[in-house]
Order: sequence, then structure tokens, then C-alpha cells
Amino acid sequence: MIFHRRWAMRFGAAGAAWAALELLKAVGLRGMRRGVQILLLHHVPPRQYRAFGRFLDFVFRHFDVIDPGHAALFFDGRMKSNIRPSLLFSFDDGFSSNWHLARQFLNPLGIKAVFFVCPALIELPPDEQRRAIEERIFDGQEHRMAHEELALMDLRQLEDLMNSGHSIGSHTLRHARLPLLAEAQKTEEIVSSAQWLKRRLGRPADWFAYPFGDIGSIDGESLRLIGETYAYCCSGVRGRNDEGTNPLGLRRQSLDLETPGYYQKFILEGGFDFLYARPRRVLNDMSIRARKILVHGS
Ligand SMILES: [Zn+2]
Repeated sequence: MIFHRRWAMRFGAAGAAWAALELLKAVGLRGMRRGVQILLLHHVPPRQYRAFGRFLDFVFRHFDVIDPGHAALFFDGRMKSNIRPSLLFSFDDGFSSNWHLARQFLNPLGIKAVFFVCPALIELPPDEQRRAIEERIFDGQEHRMAHEELALMDLRQLEDLMNSGHSIGSHTLRHARLPLLAEAQKTEEIVSSAQWLKRRLGRPADWFAYPFGDIGSIDGESLRLIGETYAYCCSGVRGRNDEGTNPLGLRRQSLDLETPGYYQKFILEGGFDFLYARPRRVLNDMSIRARKILVHGS
């Protein structure tokens, strides 16, 4: 789950910022911009399907929806950005609702997404899994999920997603906050989850997303291990990705489907990106250092 859920604040701030944004657009200074935005979603229950359908209509009007392979070529510098702004779908935590959403919406529309999962939590029996979701994914915080919704995709569902063309990435072994761990535990969370995915799904995982997503939930040592194991690392730091974005410091746009359409549009127009200028800089510096160590040795 991602770090921020400040309901009270954000509508007020968003309303004021939206008015300012409309003014800027009226004079031609803003709108959707080129480059790749990675959308970050979590659990999407059936009660949000109508909202998801509306959101898809909006997305298709403004974006080229790209698949993980296309995004990978762009992040590797082997493909220029599309003329239209591009959007890649990603889902964190591996909730079983994701599999249903894929069958209902993504597969019929040909949308290919990246699903970030935690292998050690997948293997738990249902009751233990529910407890682990509350303790490790929600970090003991209040959540809006019903008891029966607290379930993760199983191996069969992951295989099914992969067979439908989606990518499965790692979200650490047990949804760990990486900077709190000693190096051996970091290695376990980062490297063992890749080994599990390769062993169980028969394909190496190229994608990683670190849990909680904020800049305080990643550090240089972890990013170096991630860079040794995976090709692309997603954060929860807001912003677009362009030709210069380091593949180990990818930005994503977290979005709540229960928020109003104008608010969602505001997010994808980069309305909140300015608030993340410092985290983007820190993440970028950390990614460059991690890549240098990879290339030149420590
Ligand atoms: Zn998560």
C-alpha cells in the first residue's frame, strides 16, 4: 500500500489547485504531456468497476496505453516517446481483486499491466494471509477493505495473468520496509523474491517496486541490490518519466478510483508533481549511484 491517505486535506488543496490549472490550460500552458506515466493502483473491488470504466474512457481519450515491453524499451533508451502521452498500468500488493479486474476489463481491452507481488505472503494459509495483509501491507493502519477481500492472488492466478501477456514483478518477499533491514535481510527480500518468481513462473522478473513507495522507504544499498537483480525499479514518487529518467528510479502516479474525475485528471496532468521535486532529485541521485556501482564495481 502506498504511504499517503490524507482524505481531509487533499480535496481542499486539489480544488484550489485545479482552478489554477484550468486557468493555465486556458492560456495553453498545461495539459497532458509527452513521456511515460506509470499508474499505481492497488485493490480494485467490484464496487469500483463503474468508476474504473469511467477512468478507462478518460485514459483512452488522452493517452496511448502501453504494455510493459514497450515501456521497457523506452526506459532502456531504445525507443523514443510516443507523440501522445503514454500510460502504463501497474498494481501493487497482488490482491486477488486484481485477477478479476484483469479478466473483466484489462484482457478484453488488450491492456497489459505489471502486477507487483510478495511471494512469501502468497504462500500463507487464508487466516495468516489476512493478518499479514493488515500488519505488513497496511502497516497496522486503518483500511477500507472487507474481511473477505483481504486475499492475495495465488500462483495459478499469477500464471493466468502471465499467460494473458501481463508482467509479474516483485514487491519484496514480505512487503518489507527496506531501509530498516540489515544487508542480509535486504538481500533476502530483494533477491529471494526474484528467485521465487523465476522458479515458480518460469521467467525472470525484470520489474521491482519497493513497498510504501515514499523516498524514506528506499536506500542506496537496497537500490544497488535491486539494480543487480532487476532491470526496472518503480517508486511511489510522483512525476512523469522521460528519456532521461533512470530505470532504477521510475516515478508513478498513485490514484484512488473513488476520487472525482477532475481530481484524477489533475493528478495525470502532473498537478501534484511539484510537491515531489525533492524526492525525485534524491531518487535520481540514488539511482545514478546504484547504476555506477553496477557498471564500475564498488
Ligand atoms: Zn505495497
